[in-house]
Amino acid sequence: MVNIIKKLKDSNLVGRGGANFPTWQKWQAVKDAQSTPKYIVCNASEGEPLVFKDKYLLENYPQEVINGLKIALKTIRHSQAYIYLNKDYFQLFKKPLENLIAKLPIKLFEKPFSYIAGEETSLLNAIEGKKPEPRIKPPYPTQVGLFGKPTLINNVETFYWVSKIDQGKYEGNRFYSIEGETKNKGVFELPETKTIEQILQETNNWPDFDFFCQVGGGACGTIMLSSELNQPIKGTGSIIIFDKNKTDVYQLMRSWAEFLHQNNCDQCAPCREGLYRIFELMSQDKEKVLPEKTKLNDIFTALEKTSFCPLGRLATMPFKSAIAKLI
Ligand code: SF4
Repeated sequence: MVNIIKKLKDSNLVGRGGANFPTWQKWQAVKDAQSTPKYIVCNASEGEPLVFKDKYLLENYPQEVINGLKIALKTIRHSQAYIYLNKDYFQLFKKPLENLIAKLPIKLFEKPFSYIAGEETSLLNAIEGKKPEPRIKPPYPTQVGLFGKPTLINNVETFYWVSKIDQGKYEGNRFYSIEGETKNKGVFELPETKTIEQILQETNNWPDFDFFCQVGGGACGTIMLSSELNQPIKGTGSIIIFDKNKTDVYQLMRSWAEFLHQNNCDQCAPCREGLYRIFELMSQDKEKVLPEKTKLNDIFTALEKTSFCPLGRLATMPFKSAIAKLI
């Protein structure tokens, strides 16, 4: 019987939570770690606005997700597992998941009401009963994770594909959530090599009006023009469609700024203060926003270069891409 880690390596599966890290390497690192017990966490915290592919999988294929976890428990000896669900998903899926995990060493954990609590080291703090804020890396959770022990963290979709790979039913597909100004919004399974243009065409979501997209999530995702969609998605498989003529770009940027400044963890000054300043600048009359471009650029640089975790470092992407392409 072929070892699952070899199968994961041969499949080239990368984590579907957004970081694109080769799945087999995480599994191998936790399997090889000496310290015990070990932990496995299925991250079902999906918190970016308008991203909902993991919800779709928990609704439609929970058994496959649990199968993925069972394979992890079997591969990583002396381990126990958690399914870490955001508050909505905890309410929705508690009962059906409890039925599926009845006698397995798997517990459900309800994520605190905090976006950053979905970041992989914040969730470790949350499960340990601490403030859900990111930890410094390294050490990585594969070595020093939950309760200081080796911990495998993968998201819902990754565990789903592990199950499929084990059954020999994986052909390089992934799930995409499509939202926004379109009639056929939903979750679709397509090859990961498809370009964004092909994904929209083949799912009957290519608009017949002038549009742009936000790719990668409704807060931290990058703005892409319709002429730029001849490339596959890297990171979270989310596409949000906007009508170019009907969208108030300033209002859109304000909504991102509000979400991000309310949902950072306040641990480091560049992100805590920087995101608040962006929100303050974006809350002015729109004619006053662009004259503040130098100030905005200074804040962006501070965020990118000095933030403690990826939220602060990546939070500039939607603003920079929107200002460059839409204003
Ligand atoms: S970058 Fe933001 S979210 Fe990350 S640790 Fe700093 S304050 Fe918290």
